[in-house]
Amino acid sequence: MKLSDGTAIAASGLAYCLLACATIWITDAGAGIATIWPANAILLAIVWTLPRNRWLPYFLACFAGNVIANMFARDSLLASLPFGIANMAEVAMAALLLGRTRNSGEAFAGVRQVARFGVIAGVLAPGFSALLGAATAKVLYDAGMLQAYLTWFTADALGLLIVTPVALMLRDGELLHWYRQLSRQARSHAAGLFLLVIATTCVTFGQSGNPLLFLVFGPTILASCRLGRAGAVLSVVAVAAIGTFATMHDAGPLGILGDDWTKVIVFQLFLAVLMMTALPAAAELDSRRHLIAKLAEREAALLLMMDRSSDLILNFDRDGTCVFASGSSASLADYTPGIVVGANVVDLPHPHDAGKAKFNLVRALDDPAHSHRCEYRLNDGGGGWFWVEASTRALTDADGQVTGAVSVLRDVSHHKRQEADLRMAAITDELTGLANRSGFVDAFERELPATDRIETWVGLLDLDHFKTVNDRHGHLAGDEVLRAVANRLRAELRPDDVLARIGGEEFAVILVSCSETTASTIFERLRSSVCEAPVAVAPGVALSLTLSAGFVKLTPELSREQILAAADEALYFSKRAGRNRVTIGIARRDALAA
Ligand code: GH3
Ligand code: MG
Ligand code: MG
Repeated sequence: MKLSDGTAIAASGLAYCLLACATIWITDAGAGIATIWPANAILLAIVWTLPRNRWLPYFLACFAGNVIANMFARDSLLASLPFGIANMAEVAMAALLLGRTRNSGEAFAGVRQVARFGVIAGVLAPGFSALLGAATAKVLYDAGMLQAYLTWFTADALGLLIVTPVALMLRDGELLHWYRQLSRQARSHAAGLFLLVIATTCVTFGQSGNPLLFLVFGPTILASCRLGRAGAVLSVVAVAAIGTFATMHDAGPLGILGDDWTKVIVFQLFLAVLMMTALPAAAELDSRRHLIAKLAEREAALLLMMDRSSDLILNFDRDGTCVFASGSSASLADYTPGIVVGANVVDLPHPHDAGKAKFNLVRALDDPAHSHRCEYRLNDGGGGWFWVEASTRALTDADGQVTGAVSVLRDVSHHKRQEADLRMAAITDELTGLANRSGFVDAFERELPATDRIETWVGLLDLDHFKTVNDRHGHLAGDEVLRAVANRLRAELRPDDVLARIGGEEFAVILVSCSETTASTIFERLRSSVCEAPVAVAPGVALSLTLSAGFVKLTPELSREQILAAADEALYFSKRAGRNRVTIGIARRDALAA
């Protein structure tokens, strides 16, 4: 149920007034300062979670509650006003210094937050308000300044420290929420712990001969650690209730202390220390529990992703032994945990790639800040191999020490095939299926370095008067001729020789490892293969063609451009000499034809 603002304001004023009346009455402080002051904690618990622009009505309601309680108890408006102002100033100062919080979980989220609360609510705010309160008591009741200051300070500090956490948790419904989300088993576990707290407190306060207050800390800390903030707060409330009851009936270990003032202050001090010990322990464990729950959620999501992943995920130890495997890719289906766990990183890939895989792992182990990639082949289970890309990253422990590495293996065979197809397309002539100019340049650069040991020859071949073929029979017939010529040339060459179509009707040939005589013979054969029989371009249409060629020997000290220029000069010589012939040129630095 959510109270409307008006009702909430009135209720807080009333609660403040009743609590103030009760404590003034209990501590019999008609003409002095009460030794217990929990009322301010109620107001602090309210305004702590509110934006500042909504504070004023609550402060006014509680100020009114305070004035009424003081008038009722002390019968004096004169005293009531300054006491009320001092109390409101204390709460305002605490709330301003603490800054807004959203809920008790955030307010006491960790040791740092609890310590900050302890300093502000247990020292600074009551230390300041005690000045006003003690001065008022001195002026109006002629009380001793130091005694009045200490009484005000301790009562308010302890009241805030003990009651604010309880009030805040009650206000934002955390206690109820905590109870609701407990399982049946957890509830009985919690009940057992609270019974232990209650029993120990009863034993402690059921006797007065021995100062056994320390006994209470054990079960309270235990409940705080096991049950979190709710366990801490409820335990302190139980101890406070039993202790108050016993002390009011002159029982318990506080009986050995002389006057009531000392008893009340020492008891509150005990409760405040208990709260300030239990809360941080609970806060620390709560935040860890929260963290562990979050990690568990993430781990569950990660495991699910790994199970459904089309990648294969492998964990290796520092020696390269696979210790964990997950993933469900079809192509990697043979790599089940049963097969790969226990295998070494060098056992999985193709023997030629084992070194690469090992090197990639070692690099990752040596450089934990980055992931490292390499590609290697895996057995496809049918005698073939397929390519995977392995991305590997080191795993470190809490101290930053490398404990192993995780590799994500992705099937890249399709990608590899596409890459190879593209590379092939880039160096192939679409019309004839021969190498194109780029393919020829690649082959040329490949062969050139070996030409100081092996005699290699390069020739340029050009169809004679090809333009007339196109002009008379059309472009398609011209294409047909180019295809037929390509086939004839190919048929005359050895598999290691290179044949490329490097321009419209211009071909290039590289003859590897042959003498000048053999090269001449082969170029002659190439020439005659074109002219020896007409080329059929359509049913009943066959064309007689001739070809001119020029060739030179490859020499490593000359550049590609110089060698090709020499071959071109030789070809030009054949053309000028009447076409349908082969000329041998000499590749020179000035690239002049022979
Ligand atoms: P020459 O004997 O001096 O070499 O005479 P040519 O007519 O062969 O010389 P030119 O280089 O002037 O003509 C080449 C012709 O080849 C021009 C162009 O129409 C034709 N051609 C170039 N590429 C293609 C092609 O892919 N298909 C077809 N059908 N014709 C092409
Ligand atoms: Mg030409
Ligand atoms: Mg030509």
